[in-house]
Amino acid sequence: MIEKIVNPKELRHWDGKIELYWIYTSGKAGDEFFKKLKDEEKFIAAKCKKCGKVYFPPRIYCEKDFSDTEFVEVSGEGCVRAFTVARLDAYENPLEKPEIYAVIDIDGTDGCLIHLLGEVEPEQVEVGMKVKPVLKPKEEREGKITDILYFKPL
Ligand SMILES: [Zn+2]
Repeated sequence: MIEKIVNPKELRHWDGKIELYWIYTSGKAGDEFFKKLKDEEKFIAAKCKKCGKVYFPPRIYCEKDFSDTEFVEVSGEGCVRAFTVARLDAYENPLEKPEIYAVIDIDGTDGCLIHLLGEVEPEQVEVGMKVKPVLKPKEEREGKITDILYFKPL
Protein backbone atom coordinates (compact mmCIF):
# COMPACT_ATOMS: atom_id res chain seq x y z
CA MET A 1 0.00 0.00 0.00
CA ILE A 2 1.29 3.41 -0.92
CA GLU A 3 -0.19 6.47 0.73
CA LYS A 4 1.37 9.84 0.30
CA ILE A 5 0.73 13.50 -0.25
CA VAL A 6 1.41 14.03 -3.96
CA ASN A 7 2.26 17.74 -3.85
CA PRO A 8 4.10 18.89 -0.67
CA LYS A 9 3.24 22.53 -1.50
CA GLU A 10 -0.31 21.65 -0.59
CA LEU A 11 0.65 20.96 3.04
CA ARG A 12 -1.12 23.56 5.14
CA HIS A 13 -3.46 24.03 8.07
CA TRP A 14 -7.04 22.87 7.61
CA ASP A 15 -10.19 23.52 9.53
CA GLY A 16 -12.50 20.55 9.31
CA LYS A 17 -11.76 17.81 6.76
CA ILE A 18 -8.12 17.25 5.79
CA GLU A 19 -7.63 17.06 2.04
CA LEU A 20 -5.31 14.23 1.05
CA TYR A 21 -4.40 12.54 -2.20
CA TRP A 22 -3.40 8.93 -2.17
CA ILE A 23 -2.53 6.04 -4.39
CA TYR A 24 -3.75 2.65 -3.23
CA THR A 25 -2.85 -0.70 -4.68
CA SER A 26 -4.19 -4.01 -3.42
CA GLY A 27 -0.89 -5.70 -4.38
CA LYS A 28 -0.16 -8.78 -6.49
CA ALA A 29 -2.35 -11.17 -4.50
CA GLY A 30 -5.16 -8.61 -4.11
CA ASP A 31 -5.14 -7.86 -7.83
CA GLU A 32 -5.38 -11.57 -8.61
CA PHE A 33 -8.23 -11.97 -6.12
CA PHE A 34 -10.28 -9.12 -7.58
CA LYS A 35 -9.53 -10.12 -11.20
CA LYS A 36 -10.78 -13.69 -10.59
CA LEU A 37 -13.84 -12.41 -8.75
CA LYS A 38 -14.72 -9.88 -11.46
CA ASP A 39 -14.04 -11.96 -14.57
CA GLU A 40 -14.65 -15.55 -13.47
CA GLU A 41 -16.84 -15.34 -10.33
CA LYS A 42 -14.14 -17.33 -8.54
CA PHE A 43 -12.72 -16.89 -5.07
CA ILE A 44 -9.06 -17.52 -4.49
CA ALA A 45 -7.05 -17.93 -1.33
CA ALA A 46 -3.30 -18.53 -0.93
CA LYS A 47 -1.86 -21.69 0.62
CA CYS A 48 1.58 -21.67 2.22
CA LYS A 49 3.84 -24.18 0.45
CA LYS A 50 5.59 -24.99 3.76
CA CYS A 51 3.08 -24.99 6.62
CA GLY A 52 -0.18 -25.26 4.68
CA LYS A 53 -1.89 -22.25 6.24
CA VAL A 54 -4.53 -20.91 3.82
CA TYR A 55 -4.77 -17.15 3.67
CA PHE A 56 -7.97 -15.38 2.75
CA PRO A 57 -7.75 -12.76 1.40
CA PRO A 58 -4.70 -14.21 -0.40
CA ARG A 59 -1.11 -13.20 0.41
CA ILE A 60 2.03 -13.73 -1.68
CA TYR A 61 3.99 -15.09 1.27
CA CYS A 62 3.26 -16.77 4.61
CA GLU A 63 3.23 -14.43 7.59
CA LYS A 64 4.37 -17.27 9.91
CA ASP A 65 7.40 -18.67 8.06
CA PHE A 66 7.87 -16.25 5.10
CA SER A 67 7.52 -19.10 2.59
CA ASP A 68 5.93 -18.64 -0.83
CA THR A 69 2.23 -19.31 -1.20
CA GLU A 70 0.25 -20.65 -4.12
CA PHE A 71 -3.25 -19.57 -5.13
CA VAL A 72 -5.99 -22.09 -4.48
CA GLU A 73 -9.64 -21.81 -5.47
CA VAL A 74 -12.27 -21.80 -2.72
CA SER A 75 -16.06 -21.67 -2.94
CA GLY A 76 -16.47 -18.30 -1.22
CA GLU A 77 -19.02 -19.89 1.08
CA GLY A 78 -18.49 -19.68 4.79
CA CYS A 79 -20.11 -19.35 8.15
CA VAL A 80 -20.96 -16.41 10.37
CA ARG A 81 -18.51 -16.04 13.24
CA ALA A 82 -19.99 -12.79 14.59
CA PHE A 83 -22.45 -10.15 13.45
CA THR A 84 -23.96 -6.80 14.34
CA VAL A 85 -27.07 -4.97 13.19
CA ALA A 86 -26.92 -1.29 12.20
CA ARG A 87 -30.21 0.56 12.52
CA LEU A 88 -28.80 4.12 12.19
CA ASP A 89 -26.60 5.67 9.50
CA ALA A 90 -23.33 7.51 10.20
CA TYR A 91 -25.34 10.66 11.06
CA GLU A 92 -27.59 8.74 13.45
CA ASN A 93 -30.58 8.87 11.13
CA PRO A 94 -32.71 5.72 11.13
CA LEU A 95 -31.99 3.42 8.18
CA GLU A 96 -34.91 2.41 5.97
CA LYS A 97 -33.93 -1.21 6.55
CA PRO A 98 -31.45 -2.51 9.17
CA GLU A 99 -28.06 -3.53 7.77
CA ILE A 100 -26.40 -6.69 9.07
CA TYR A 101 -22.60 -6.79 9.10
CA ALA A 102 -20.89 -10.12 9.72
CA VAL A 103 -17.46 -11.62 10.17
CA ILE A 104 -17.57 -14.61 7.83
CA ASP A 105 -15.08 -17.49 8.15
CA ILE A 106 -14.43 -18.61 4.57
CA ASP A 107 -14.62 -22.40 4.04
CA GLY A 108 -11.33 -24.14 3.34
CA THR A 109 -9.26 -21.20 4.60
CA ASP A 110 -7.87 -19.83 7.84
CA GLY A 111 -9.21 -16.38 6.92
CA CYS A 112 -12.35 -14.35 7.10
CA LEU A 113 -14.13 -11.41 5.52
CA ILE A 114 -16.34 -8.70 6.98
CA HIS A 115 -19.34 -8.09 4.74
CA LEU A 116 -23.08 -7.48 4.62
CA LEU A 117 -25.67 -10.20 5.02
CA GLY A 118 -28.76 -10.08 2.81
CA GLU A 119 -32.01 -11.95 2.13
CA VAL A 120 -32.30 -12.52 5.87
CA GLU A 121 -33.84 -10.64 8.80
CA PRO A 122 -31.66 -9.69 11.79
CA GLU A 123 -33.59 -11.97 14.17
CA GLN A 124 -32.92 -14.96 11.86
CA VAL A 125 -29.12 -14.57 11.90
CA GLU A 126 -27.13 -16.95 14.11
CA VAL A 127 -23.45 -17.47 14.79
CA GLY A 128 -22.40 -20.56 12.82
CA MET A 129 -24.98 -19.95 10.07
CA LYS A 130 -23.76 -21.09 6.60
CA VAL A 131 -23.74 -18.33 3.98
CA LYS A 132 -22.81 -17.88 0.33
CA PRO A 133 -21.81 -14.78 -1.63
CA VAL A 134 -24.14 -12.96 -4.02
CA LEU A 135 -22.26 -11.06 -6.74
CA LYS A 136 -23.24 -8.07 -8.87
CA PRO A 137 -24.13 -8.88 -12.48
CA LYS A 138 -20.88 -9.34 -14.47
CA GLU A 139 -21.28 -6.13 -16.51
CA GLU A 140 -21.53 -4.07 -13.30
CA ARG A 141 -18.46 -5.51 -11.55
CA GLU A 142 -15.48 -3.21 -11.04
CA GLY A 143 -12.88 -5.42 -9.37
CA LYS A 144 -13.78 -4.18 -5.89
CA ILE A 145 -15.01 -5.82 -2.71
CA THR A 146 -18.42 -4.28 -3.45
CA ASP A 147 -18.65 -6.69 -6.42
CA ILE A 148 -19.94 -8.95 -3.65
CA LEU A 149 -23.37 -7.46 -2.89
CA TYR A 150 -23.82 -9.50 0.29
CA PHE A 151 -23.78 -13.03 1.67
CA LYS A 152 -27.06 -14.92 1.98
CA PRO A 153 -28.02 -18.00 3.99
CA LEU A 154 -27.35 -21.32 2.27
ZN1 LIG B 1 3.66 -21.00 6.26
